[in-house]
Amino acid sequence: MLQNSGIIDENVICNCGNSCNVRTSRADNNPGRRFFGCKMPKGGCGYFKWIDPSPEVELLKKKLKEVEEDRDTLKYKMKKLGGKFDSLKQKLKEIKQERDCAKAKFNRLVVVVLCFLLAKIIFG
Ligand SMILES: [Zn+2]
Repeated sequence: MLQNSGIIDENVICNCGNSCNVRTSRADNNPGRRFFGCKMPKGGCGYFKWIDPSPEVELLKKKLKEVEEDRDTLKYKMKKLGGKFDSLKQKLKEIKQERDCAKAKFNRLVVVVLCFLLAKIIFG
């Protein structure tokens, strides 16, 4: 249909059975945009088909591509953060274990001190 060079190799047939001419829009909302139209006088059968893409569609395609890139970047960042989160969870688990161990040591120390004080009270 539309080559990189802008040359059109498509043969479009209108409702009259004729091959269409390539025309260029002079409308305010589509200036310079090319289309196929019936080559018969006064618009002939009225056949009409755009060749060049709509500028709005092209803009939306470009925005979609940008949004998709942002999505991929966010996906990557989320994956990275997920890894960090797992690492922090592991560290938290280790710290909890250390805390429990320290608590047990403290409890044993309290028992020893209480025994010592009790012995001192009983035996002077
Ligand atoms: Zn026609």
